[in-house]
Amino acid sequence: MKINRLPKDDTNNGWSQILQPRTPHPSLKGKVNADWIVLGAGYAGLAAARRLAELHPNQSIALIDAGEAGENASGRNSGFAIDLPHNVGSSLDELEGSHRFMGLARFAINHLDQAVETYGIDCDWSVDGKYHTAVSPRGVEEVLRPFKAELEALGEPYEWVEGEDLRRRIGSPHFTAAVYTPGGRLMNPAALTRGLTDSLPENVSVYENSPVVNFENSNGICLDTPNGQVRAPKMIMGANGFSEQFGYYPRRFLHLVAHASITRPLTEAERATFGVEKPWGLTPANAFAGITMRYTNDHRIVIRQGLSYCPSQRFDEKDRLAIKVRHASLFHARFPTLPDVDIEHTWSGFVCLSQNSAPGFGPVARNVWSAVCQNAVGVTKGTFGGILAADMASRRDNPLIADMESLGAPSKLPPRPFLDIGVRTRFQWELWRNRHEA
Ligand SMILES: Cc1cc2nc3c(=O)[nH]c(=O)nc-3n(C[C@H](O)[C@H](O)[C@H](O)COP(=O)(O)OP(=O)(O)OC[C@H]3O[C@@H](n4cnc5c(N)ncnc54)[C@H](O)[C@@H]3O)c2cc1C
Repeated sequence: MKINRLPKDDTNNGWSQILQPRTPHPSLKGKVNADWIVLGAGYAGLAAARRLAELHPNQSIALIDAGEAGENASGRNSGFAIDLPHNVGSSLDELEGSHRFMGLARFAINHLDQAVETYGIDCDWSVDGKYHTAVSPRGVEEVLRPFKAELEALGEPYEWVEGEDLRRRIGSPHFTAAVYTPGGRLMNPAALTRGLTDSLPENVSVYENSPVVNFENSNGICLDTPNGQVRAPKMIMGANGFSEQFGYYPRRFLHLVAHASITRPLTEAERATFGVEKPWGLTPANAFAGITMRYTNDHRIVIRQGLSYCPSQRFDEKDRLAIKVRHASLFHARFPTLPDVDIEHTWSGFVCLSQNSAPGFGPVARNVWSAVCQNAVGVTKGTFGGILAADMASRRDNPLIADMESLGAPSKLPPRPFLDIGVRTRFQWELWRNRHEA
């Protein structure tokens, strides 16, 4: 089967631009045989490869990616490892579902905590938690108060922050109130994916810059890249939204593009005016209208704003310049005390959702298991999906597999162009309805 669409990201990812240059692992050349293939070196593929290597120390694993580790969605996100569901819901079923999700997410966070510590991954990994913020009193009533009640029902710790206290912690007068939860992690995601890649066990061979252009699954798995070929009896599919190019999950995925910007570091004088002591991360009450933001350890501010339907999985450089201008204006509206701070980098990345928010997990063909469709929460969901796909493929008992399966499977979408019209209308409606949270 010919692979018609390959990943194509811009080269502006600020998280990797602020790191030292790195030498990628060599690309695939010639013919290689392995015991396992893992396709895709995002959080899912990295976790799957590590788990397979640990479970089968005498077997070989070929981890293959079209690009460089840290240059795909996983290394260009906002850098939150999230441990709580975005929407909890208050029915017993929903609460039980939330408990299962939290168990899975914390399993992933624990895995990442250990990897960061064991291999000394220098990625600004921090346990600073996050603020869930509302701009308007309406956002407070419609989102934050129900969220607070749900956290109480779940027995989860939180802190309600508002007014001057919130302004002092965030350094912006823009928000009315926030619910602070301590459990998540913050990091430079490109530094994390690089560190996870470079610390893989020796029985994993990493091939970067190796786009798979042809795929066969008869008599074993065979992948062709422009200069090489890899064969193995079994494969874990971790190509997220691109897994549909391999014939999996047809008409199940919604492709979205999201954009982020990072400023230059604040000067000492600016930091004194800003007056914020600790790095923070905040997510908005509404993901479409609001803005996700971070204040990093090296005193930069990150903005993630703009989420739109993008079935082509391509985004134009000209349109990105317009995003940069918009991000600068949003930044200055939120931080009027920092008028001279410029945006240094603006980039885009692709995320993949299913209509019912279910992951693409489990067996998808003979000898192929998948861990895809992370519904835009891929740091934790990709990590636990990858580990559990490796466990399942290795026939290893893990009670979390049942929890993972309870999240369901992606539902079928209407055919295009009805889908396009429906999704675009719904997104416009969400933006308009939540404009008070912009
Ligand atoms: C701007 C932005 C902000 C975000 N913020 C957050 C956040 O704060 N927290 C969070 O949890 N999530 C966030 N997300 C979502 C998160 O980044 C994704 O859910 C996650 O990276 C998906 O991980 P993955 O391993 O499933 O897929 P990916 O990271 O997309 O990895 C799939 C890999 O497959 C490879 N591939 C595809 N096709 C081929 C082929 N033919 N040959 C070889 N390789 C191929 C790709 O190159 C890619 O590296 C954000 C996303 C964006 C874009």
